[in-house]
Amino acid sequence: MTDCIFCKIINGEIPSDIIYEDDKVIAFNDLNPQSPVHFLVIPKEHIESVNYLDSKNANLVAHTFLVIGKLAKKLGIDEKGYRVVNNCGENGGQTVPHIHFHVLASRKFSWPPG
Ligand code: AMP
Ligand code: ZN
Repeated sequence: MTDCIFCKIINGEIPSDIIYEDDKVIAFNDLNPQSPVHFLVIPKEHIESVNYLDSKNANLVAHTFLVIGKLAKKLGIDEKGYRVVNNCGENGGQTVPHIHFHVLASRKFSWPPG
């Protein structure tokens, strides 16, 4: 999608701090980190939000979580733990309409979320 900021990161039009990439997903550090480790994992296919997942594209979410697990090990955050967040729509706090999973780590998180 031409006016999507994350599609622009995927195709290299906007620079980003990429930490992982394969044929299906890309991971990059969040521009405005909320914890010492804060990166986003997004499918390369433009899917607006969880509301737009279906039986054809849902495999990308499974792949995203496999990548999150691998990156967590690689970054050494797996044992202490981390939080994976998906914000969906206005009430969920989604600001970029391209599905993405936040991975936050290296500090303690509270519950319930704000
Ligand atoms: P959300 O509010 O869940 O839609 O999350 C969007 C996230 O994208 C926010 O945490 C932003 O800081 C992050 N973000 C926006 N633009 C960029 C960018 N160019 N590079 C990296 N992260 C970005
Ligand atoms: Zn997009």
